[in-house]
This record gives sequence, C-alpha cells and structure tokens, in this order.
Amino acid sequence: MDRSPDSYSCAFCKIVSGEAPAQVVYRDDSLTAFRDTHPFASTHILIVPNRHIASVNDLDEGEQVLVGQMVWVAKKLAASEGLSARGYRLLINTGEHGGQTVFHLHLHLLGGPLARLALK
Ligand code: 5GP
Ligand code: ZN
Repeated sequence: MDRSPDSYSCAFCKIVSGEAPAQVVYRDDSLTAFRDTHPFASTHILIVPNRHIASVNDLDEGEQVLVGQMVWVAKKLAASEGLSARGYRLLINTGEHGGQTVFHLHLHLLGGPLARLALK
C-alpha cells in the first residue's frame, strides 16, 4: 500500500490497511466504509478514502471525483441499511471549528430518528 508519513499514526489508515479492527461494511480500490465506534445515531457509518487525506482542506483538484464516489457509496449504503425512505444525514467535519477529531477525511452517514439531531 502507498503510504504517506502521516498515515503511520492515523487510526483510519490503520483500519484501511487492516492493522486495526473495524466493522467494515464496504471496500473498493478507492474507499472503505466502517461503523463508528461511538455512534450518534442507530446507523453511523464512516466512509473514508483509502489514501491518507487529512481533511477537505487538503483535497487536490484531481480528487473531486473521489469526493463524488464517497457520496455515491453513502447513497448505496443508505439503501442497503434501509435508510433511503426516511432519509439520513451526510456530514463532513473540517478542522477545529468544524469539530473534526480524526484527521483522515471521512463522510459520516447517520440514519435513524436521532440522525435529525446528530450534528456532532
Ligand atoms: P470527526 O469528529 O473527526 O468528524 O469524527 C470522527 C469519528 O470517528 C467519531 O465519530 C469517532 O467516534 C470515530 N472514531 C474515532 N476513532 C475511531 C476508531 O478507531 N474506529 C472507529 N470505527 N471509529 C472511530
Ligand atoms: Zn489516514
């Protein structure tokens, strides 16, 4: 796996590489999705790029497609988790004021009644 220096101390890089355990629900060449260990809603899944990108601030122009893929996978997982009809929240926290605590880009997929309230 292609690894940047930052990735060696990154919790989500370790999940992507299989070094750390997680309930993985989706994986392809670009993305991995797994359940959040401290869920804020009955369904709480994190969708992350396999490559270490710290945050939205660190995205390059060429990574626009990757962000689109993250939303597409969220839509597919929402369907397979039975969330499509009632709806769900997609959330990307960025930086200190955005409430980001893990600096590996991730899209939260929140579903169930509490998703309406969960802004993290
Ligand atoms: P943030 O606040 O950065 O947007 O969200 C980070 C999320 O990652 C939090 O909801 C937190 O519960 C989750 N999280 C942090 N460490 C781990 C971990 O090691 N495994 C999993 N599955 N989730 C984690
Ligand atoms: Zn990482």
